[in-house]
Amino acid sequence: MATAKTQERWTQDKVGRTERDVIVMGIAIAACLLFVGIGGSAMTQILDSWLGHRDRPDQLLISAMLLNIALIIFGWRRYDELAQEVDKRRRAEMEARELAETDPLTGCLNRRSIGTIMNRIAVDACHRGQEVAALLFDLDKFKLINDLHGHKWGDRLLIEVARRVSSVVPAGAHLARLGGDEFCCFLPYDPRLQEQVDRIAVNILHAIALPVSLDGTASEITASIGIAHTHGKTDSSDELLIHEADIAMYHAKRSGRGRYCWFDPSMESESRFRGELESGIRSGMTKGEFVPFYQQQIDLDNGELVGFEMLARWHSPKLGEISPEIFIPVAEEIGLIADLSESLIKRALQDAKHWDPRLILSVNISPVQLRDPWFAQKLLRLLAEAGFPPERLEIEITESCLHEDIGTVRSMITSLKNQGIQVSLDDFGTGYSSLAQLRSLPFDRLKIDRSFVTELAEDEGNAKLVEAIVSLGNELNLPITAEGIESEKVLEVLRRIGKMKGQGFLYGKPQDAHTTQELLASRNLLTPTQDHPGQAAESPLTDQAGNRKIAG
Ligand code: C2E
Ligand code: MG
Ligand code: MG
Repeated sequence: MATAKTQERWTQDKVGRTERDVIVMGIAIAACLLFVGIGGSAMTQILDSWLGHRDRPDQLLISAMLLNIALIIFGWRRYDELAQEVDKRRRAEMEARELAETDPLTGCLNRRSIGTIMNRIAVDACHRGQEVAALLFDLDKFKLINDLHGHKWGDRLLIEVARRVSSVVPAGAHLARLGGDEFCCFLPYDPRLQEQVDRIAVNILHAIALPVSLDGTASEITASIGIAHTHGKTDSSDELLIHEADIAMYHAKRSGRGRYCWFDPSMESESRFRGELESGIRSGMTKGEFVPFYQQQIDLDNGELVGFEMLARWHSPKLGEISPEIFIPVAEEIGLIADLSESLIKRALQDAKHWDPRLILSVNISPVQLRDPWFAQKLLRLLAEAGFPPERLEIEITESCLHEDIGTVRSMITSLKNQGIQVSLDDFGTGYSSLAQLRSLPFDRLKIDRSFVTELAEDEGNAKLVEAIVSLGNELNLPITAEGIESEKVLEVLRRIGKMKGQGFLYGKPQDAHTTQELLASRNLLTPTQDHPGQAAESPLTDQAGNRKIAG
């Protein structure tokens, strides 16, 4: 793209040079004509004098001719020097302008130059009855790739992406790198043929998704594209277009990455909500608005309570009740998940310290935390501070973690297990993990995703799937937990399928620390502490008569 621009400038420059050449040529021709005029009579006189037809030639005429020759030579040399000087200066000027307008890494336009380019193409497009589309894209998980392979590798990847995209966009398109891994392609198009822009977006996605192999390191990347257009206005600013395309790109990412999405005004309010979420999370963390809730986990065979899963809850004073499915991904993206999770685990360990020692505490861990090489250390510090035995802690990691660098995941799981912490694979069945991965990672348990369990009694397909997961678990020696048990009917089917643990609304919804403590106290399942003297259980899971106290 940048080379085309340079070419264009050279062409303009050549035109300027040609004009100058014509003037000089005119002067040269005049000088030559003068020379011919003077030279004609001077030469005749010289010849006549040489042949002896006349005395000496006219001295004045000879001097005028010599002066004329000297003038032509001098003028020509001066012109040549000047032309070279002007050429040099022009070249330097052009290089400076190009440096100021292009991104030195990829050769694309840079952010500074977009305004000028955008004005030009918007006016041109309007004259031709066209519009301008801005296709804004960035690479999904580029930060992770950079961290994994280093910044040099990341830079080469960006160069490769720019090369690939330049080769699939049409000639009139202008590709700019806005910074980091963010690019924007400005594209004039016929509004009646919007599908052409769709096709270009798909081509860009495909070009980026082709495997990349640099220095023997292969990687697969995807991008998400947000598209905004000028709506037929010539005064649409590049900033507004980029802003709208950015909102659309965020939408594309949310609907599953590797996609493109056109901007729609309704997305604006969503983006505002997202901004409020971000600031809400930041202030909510300092004000302690995030609290752990606990959901019972039951041995389905005998109905005994075996532990609790800690689930984060947030009641924002401004936004109301927000589900962890909404705030956890945002906390991950703004880099606050580790701090948030650690503060919740800290509180949960304090709460669980008072529970019967046979009860397990399960906590969910984000893939972002799993990438932190110090995560195991941090967790051990929290356990030590709380005086909580590692054997009673279970870490739940989602199947999507297995798409990360598998070596890092394996070493993290191993170091957690070496400390006695149990590790289970959450939401199993949703993430396409392979059998080989399952075998190679030392999990302690599989948790079947609730989407298969809730409809189990009505949907034969789901029942078959759960059966298959249970027999896979048996084969790999991995115990199973089924989540999302809402009815007796489902419970019955699960019991028929095999031995497993379970959790779901049938046994209870997640409850706050106080309600959980009350439940445990009512079943005599709190250990005696200074806070709760006399609340010790004589036998935690049975009453004095030997009956089970924790029934499902
Ligand atoms: P998850 O770990 O799979 O947790 C189970 C989810 O299923 C919880 O949703 C729970 O309330 C819900 N659930 C349990 N039983 C039933 C049932 O019978 N029917 C239905 N419909 N739902 C049931 P919740 O609390 O909204 O959490 C959603 C997800 O958010 C969790 O899924 C987990 O992945 C994530 N999450 C929650 N807390 C944390 C946290 O502290 N850290 C991280 N990284 N993720 C968390
Ligand atoms: Mg879980
Ligand atoms: Mg789950």
